[in-house]
Amino acid sequence: MRWSSYSRIGREATTGQHNGRCGLARNRRVSGMTITLGAHVDQTDPIAEAEARGADHVQFFLGDPQGYKGPEIRYHGGAEGLRKDAEAAGIGLYVHAPYIVNVATTNNRIRIPSRKLLQQHVDAAAEIGARGLIVHGGHVNKSDDPAVGFDNWRKAVEATDLKLPVLIENTAGGDNAMTRQLERIEGVWAAIEEASGHEQVGFCLDTCHAWASGIDLATVVEQVIRITGRIDLVHANDSRDAAGSGADRHTSLGQGRIDADLLAGVIHEAGAPVVCETPGGPEEHRADFEWIREHG
Ligand SMILES: [Zn+2]
Repeated sequence: MRWSSYSRIGREATTGQHNGRCGLARNRRVSGMTITLGAHVDQTDPIAEAEARGADHVQFFLGDPQGYKGPEIRYHGGAEGLRKDAEAAGIGLYVHAPYIVNVATTNNRIRIPSRKLLQQHVDAAAEIGARGLIVHGGHVNKSDDPAVGFDNWRKAVEATDLKLPVLIENTAGGDNAMTRQLERIEGVWAAIEEASGHEQVGFCLDTCHAWASGIDLATVVEQVIRITGRIDLVHANDSRDAAGSGADRHTSLGQGRIDADLLAGVIHEAGAPVVCETPGGPEEHRADFEWIREHG
């Protein structure tokens, strides 16, 4: 994922895109079912970001998405203030764990700090009252048996005090990835189902990643539910690249390479809250939400 538009998101949110629409557009009905919409936003003031977009919920990082430094709350009211203000505003919060978290790897120097970082993010996300913590499936090294990675996931679930749902996300590329192909997702799930606390592990389906990974979008929802029994969140993103390319470049809905009907089908069939991790700020994200409503 590329977040080159970050600083712009922050500026727009504080310079008047906040036109008092908070709440008006929530809980829309699409095709007879309620779908809730949100976006990935800057972490400084997630509530203002949500209101600028008329979003039901928002997703953000806590601190540096590329660093081991641990979570950081940048909201002016701190963790407690964010929890209370989000609750009062009726806005759901989701936290995306840093990209470097890789609890599957056989490399101790990555797996051990990854587990620590996972627990720290679980704790911080629980403190702000988040609905879930999204974490990528990770990967093993080239010569490793994927089964070792599956078992490392089991151990990570065992070792972590899951104070809120941890949603494992499918990823776009890499031959050694844990959640790129359906068979691997199956392997991860079979392993973690053995772990105590596994009821708190859910699934986040990213449409761009599924497309780029080569999974058939026409059947991905039923396949994932067959394997995991649940989809807790959808990352609704179009892709700048071809199916099966393995590339992870998100773009605005309707502006990428994914067939519109396929993309809309996944978003609506999954029956889960939706987060757009698409480029731009409030205006672009409102257009993404509109696209989803129009393609009900
Ligand atoms: Zn994603």
